[in-house]
Amino acid sequence: MSQKQTTTISVIKADIGSLAGHHVVHPDTMAAAAKVLAEAKSKGIVIDYYVTHAGDDLELIMTHRKGVDAPEIHETAWNAFREAAKVAKDLGLYAAGQDLLTDAFSGNVRGLGPAAAEMEFIERPAEPVIVFMADKTEPGAFNLPLYKVFADPFTTAGLVIDPKLHDGFKFEIYDVMAGKYVVMNAPEEMYDILALIGTPGRFVVRKVYRKSDNEIAAVVAVERLNLIAGQYVGKDDPVAIVRAQSGFPAVGEVLEPFAFPHLVAGWMRGSHFGPLMPVAQRNARCTRFDGPPRVVALGFQIKNGRLIGPADLFDDPAFDEARRQAQVIADYMRRHGPFMPHRLGPEEMEYTTLPQVLQKLQSRFVESKLYQVKGPKVKTELLHE
Ligand SMILES: [Mg+2]
Repeated sequence: MSQKQTTTISVIKADIGSLAGHHVVHPDTMAAAAKVLAEAKSKGIVIDYYVTHAGDDLELIMTHRKGVDAPEIHETAWNAFREAAKVAKDLGLYAAGQDLLTDAFSGNVRGLGPAAAEMEFIERPAEPVIVFMADKTEPGAFNLPLYKVFADPFTTAGLVIDPKLHDGFKFEIYDVMAGKYVVMNAPEEMYDILALIGTPGRFVVRKVYRKSDNEIAAVVAVERLNLIAGQYVGKDDPVAIVRAQSGFPAVGEVLEPFAFPHLVAGWMRGSHFGPLMPVAQRNARCTRFDGPPRVVALGFQIKNGRLIGPADLFDDPAFDEARRQAQVIADYMRRHGPFMPHRLGPEEMEYTTLPQVLQKLQSRFVESKLYQVKGPKVKTELLHE
């Protein structure tokens, strides 16, 4: 029996410069990227493509037969970003070329600045896929919603009543600091899963598989740009791909967690907690305090590799209340100004420009005779290294 043909969907994104600060991708840069993808389509490298943006992030959605991490696909994306960055530089866009950390492409965009989420599968007769794209936050922002979609029966009724979902799902959790990952089962290990992914700055849900047959269900781009670059060059705005229906949670179950605008790290200078606001694609443009962080959901049907759609899934009054709540939360958080927990904690701030400010205060501190610490040395974060 011959192996059935697989389809791969690759979502690769980069911030190559934007209009009016970190606000929105310029249409001319999108056109430059689309031209490269059109050529790749005419050469048969990709089957189909869709170019869009989430705020200041240029997003390339591509389908092909070449599998995950295919050099030809990554090179196509890289070339598209390079061409778009050239236009960005011409136009004097803000932070032109920001996410392209090298001049030398070496077969894969991972580690070079752009982020990639890719999955390969044999198409079902009808293959609904949702592409989530967020701006002004980090990959761990998807931890809470993905947990709810694939492990919480109060979100996904199918976990209880659909025999195809009833065995549960496996979570591949990546430790972005150590470069290691662990695979854990839900519902059996749900408390252990939560013990890890409740720290979304470090432990990130990278993939979700259906337990009964190991079928890929979801994938998240987990590159942490600030760690790659070794210095702060912006938060790594994440993308995720989730399959829905017929053995996976329904589209409505996949969207349901976003009715709760949970707090995520990112927002201004990648240094503040704020609510993740689900928005229509036309509203994926951050303004207030460069935010609040936003997420877009585009729904496609994939047929013989063709991308049918998209449907702009958060373009719906059903998410108005989540947006209103996000505004209220944004007001509340903003009133903390530079105070935690609006501003991120010291371990996250190490990757920002704050240490430079603290450095010059070091010499101002004098030893306090009244405060003598006995026993083991007390670690004081950031200051007094
Ligand atoms: Mg961005």
